[in-house]
Amino acid sequence: VSRGRDGDPAAERAGALGALAGVAPRARTIGLYIHVPFCAKRCDFCSFTTAPHRLGDVERYLAAAHRELDLLGTSPWAPAVTLETVFLGGGTPSLLEPEDLAALLDRARSRFAIVLDAEVTIECTPETVSRARLEAYRVAGVTRVSLGVEALDDGILGRMGRLHDAAAARAAFDAAREAASWQVSVDLMYGLPDLDAARWEATVGAVLDWRPDHLSAYGLTLDEGSVWGSTGVTGLPPEEIVVAQYWALAARARAAGYEHYEISNYALPGCRSRHNQLYWRRREYAAVGPGACGFLGDLRYGNARALARYTGALEHRRLPVERHEWLGERQVTAERLILGLRTADGVPAAWLEARAGGDARLGALLEAWRDRGLLTLDADRACLTEAGFLLSDALFVELL
Ligand code: SF4
Repeated sequence: VSRGRDGDPAAERAGALGALAGVAPRARTIGLYIHVPFCAKRCDFCSFTTAPHRLGDVERYLAAAHRELDLLGTSPWAPAVTLETVFLGGGTPSLLEPEDLAALLDRARSRFAIVLDAEVTIECTPETVSRARLEAYRVAGVTRVSLGVEALDDGILGRMGRLHDAAAARAAFDAAREAASWQVSVDLMYGLPDLDAARWEATVGAVLDWRPDHLSAYGLTLDEGSVWGSTGVTGLPPEEIVVAQYWALAARARAAGYEHYEISNYALPGCRSRHNQLYWRRREYAAVGPGACGFLGDLRYGNARALARYTGALEHRRLPVERHEWLGERQVTAERLILGLRTADGVPAAWLEARAGGDARLGALLEAWRDRGLLTLDADRACLTEAGFLLSDALFVELL
């Protein structure tokens, strides 16, 4: 436990805040990410910070998250910032009872100023939601639902370890539409085991027919920490099929009126995710919850991932930050280019030109990408095309 000398309250507070005592956010408006780690069952592809859904643990988590908000709210920098977005991610935040969610959001509002039209998103799994539950979330202040559909083939959903089937996904989407006038986003995955072209086309067609306001689609990666990452998985489609799945979605979403505004994200006009744009625009956000990561001033930091370490730190009235890094100029340059180029808006052309200046290898690479139609570069902006998005990792490595 960090204690100030002779009960000095300022020193005591600085000890409780650790690295966050010294940050100075640059912007007046920031985001807030709240990680809710509980899942009824861990999916086989998942490498996120999760915890078994046990009542006692939920109570300890909620007490700790309230305490974390209290501590963040008493930071020297807190009075200078206003929350523009709140994102409850997981884990499965929709396992929270509406009154617990309302209390958490109330605590955030009591500790931070929040803009009137703040975007407040909650990630939900289909089997956890009903119209009544979603209506209660709306009353608590949620303005946007992100529904983890992932697939619409019951065999594939079963292999993934999901607890819902396609019918439950559709029912959850309808419940979200009926519960409130708000934004509904759907998450899908491609490159999944047994996902052939026909199944993917059928999935994309069905979901686009639902007309979600927003659609996120991520290609499967076998991450360390996932069951599939450690044991492997059979039936993965070959690379050319995965690429074809990316293009099939891009074409069908465009034809249906969706803007492909980030590598993995599509939106109807006016329905981009404000919170995620904050990440890609390299804007700042505070973090609450186990494993949650924040970015304030020149500091990127991460909380303890294990629930017991997270709650333990807060029970001792100190922030659970276990990793932090003060960013240097080179990292700032790389981050703003890499994050910005993930989006259709791209980056100011001058940023990319400045980075390539004196680097003949990078200059030649950018020229080759322009020639191949992967990058557009005019007087104002540098942007990757949809073909460029697909190959972007190769460019991002060079920008580091
Ligand atoms: S994918 Fe979502 S629901 Fe499944 S284990 Fe991971 S966080 Fe939980």
